Amino acid sequence: MYRCSKCKQSIKELDDIFVRCPYCGNRVLFKERPPVAKEVPTS
Ligand SMILES: [Zn+2]
Repeated sequence: MYRCSKCKQSIKELDDIFVRCPYCGNRVLFKERPPVAKEVPTS
C-alpha cells in the first residue's frame, strides 16, 4: 500500500511502470506497510 505525500490518500494498487497518485497526479508516494497485529502476552 502507498500513500500520497500531497493529498494523503492511500493507494492500494499501483502501476509498476507509471507510479502516480490517481487522485491528484502527484508522483511522490510513500510506501506504507500494512498494519501488523501485535501479539501481546496476556499472562
Ligand atoms: Zn495524491
